[in-house]
Amino acid sequence: MRIGSISRQMENRQSQRIKNIGSEKKATAHGVGALERVFVKTGRIISLFYFACITLKRPVLVIKTVKQLIRLRRQTWGPKISKIYKVSGRYYANLYDPGWPSRSYNTSLKEELKRHAFPLKHTGNLNLVFFAITRKCPLRCEHCFEWDNLNKKETFSKEELIQVVDIYQKQGAVQFHFSGGEPMVRINDLVEVIRHARHKSECIVVTSGFNLTGINARRLKEAGCKGVVVSIDHYVPELHNAFRHHPQIFQQAITGVNAALAAGLVVSLSVCVTKTFLDGNHLMPYMKFAKELGVHFVQLLEPKAIGHYSGQDVLLEEHHIVQLESFFKKINNDNAFNAHPFVMYHGFHQRRIGCYAGSRSIYVDSAGDVHACPFCHTKSYNVGDIIRTKEKSVPVKENLCPRYGKIA
Ligand code: SF4
Repeated sequence: MRIGSISRQMENRQSQRIKNIGSEKKATAHGVGALERVFVKTGRIISLFYFACITLKRPVLVIKTVKQLIRLRRQTWGPKISKIYKVSGRYYANLYDPGWPSRSYNTSLKEELKRHAFPLKHTGNLNLVFFAITRKCPLRCEHCFEWDNLNKKETFSKEELIQVVDIYQKQGAVQFHFSGGEPMVRINDLVEVIRHARHKSECIVVTSGFNLTGINARRLKEAGCKGVVVSIDHYVPELHNAFRHHPQIFQQAITGVNAALAAGLVVSLSVCVTKTFLDGNHLMPYMKFAKELGVHFVQLLEPKAIGHYSGQDVLLEEHHIVQLESFFKKINNDNAFNAHPFVMYHGFHQRRIGCYAGSRSIYVDSAGDVHACPFCHTKSYNVGDIIRTKEKSVPVKENLCPRYGKIA
């Protein structure tokens, strides 16, 4: 009873803080209206047919493959795409497809068409690289998957970061998500790397919000960065700061979100949905918080027993998964939540059709080791060793998701 009333008081206090945040901010995300949504959906379908025709040529194969891709999209993001955001002239329905229209979007589409039409002949190019560009981080987060690599001598010089980008762009990468450590501690190099990568790939920065000031958000934007993913693991500041072991990181993250929105970046929150978070019924208040902040997306990440969580009993139970899936469908499909950010929950498709990791995306950790994804450490080679041997080419091999398997 007492705990319940303390928790209610914290929520009320937080509600007031959110209102205050809302009155200070200058920019928020608004999904496009119904007419514009029809225009975007139609435009994307026409793009799909157009590239299917010129890539696959045979009418029966075109129709079969287009149907497969439409089905795959529904299985990944849910049956209804009711939220589309326009940022700097491009439309975004999630943060893992490049914005439409763009060359990166077209390349990614053609690649996916070939992958489905010729599954035996075309194993497919890389699409997305998560690249941890620094080992430095001022935080000590409970769930950190880079824990064992942090705060050691940097692996890559700025020139080497650019060489790594070049290597994976040759393999087809149309998206880079730059993380760390905390990538914003290396803002000067980060800006240079984005400026280099921007012509062939869409660039996103994954940050705790540290050092994401107004000036730095504008520097990212000016360099060609398209968006940021800001980790906020609780809407109650004290709980977020405790989870990340940093007394001001909640306020810095809020400042960072507002700065990124004002700079014209796509903004997603990312939250580690622990058992405590889910058992405390914090999902819906968190979405209210995200809506008030005005972000475009919210990403739900399940805790995994790696890094700082290694050896701990953190994996979610069946009833938590049911709770997350039902929430994902409700927020994205129920008209009552049209004004809320779109929810990205990878566990939904991973448990039904497999995982994109390894076949379409890889994770280069801050030591240069290459894995299927940030959460499944499946080291296959070290890209730093490769660039230093002057070979400049990496094994074109799949490093499959060991947990959920591969999406066809
Ligand atoms: S999770 Fe990210 S912000 Fe937190 S300690 Fe690890 S690298 Fe730093």
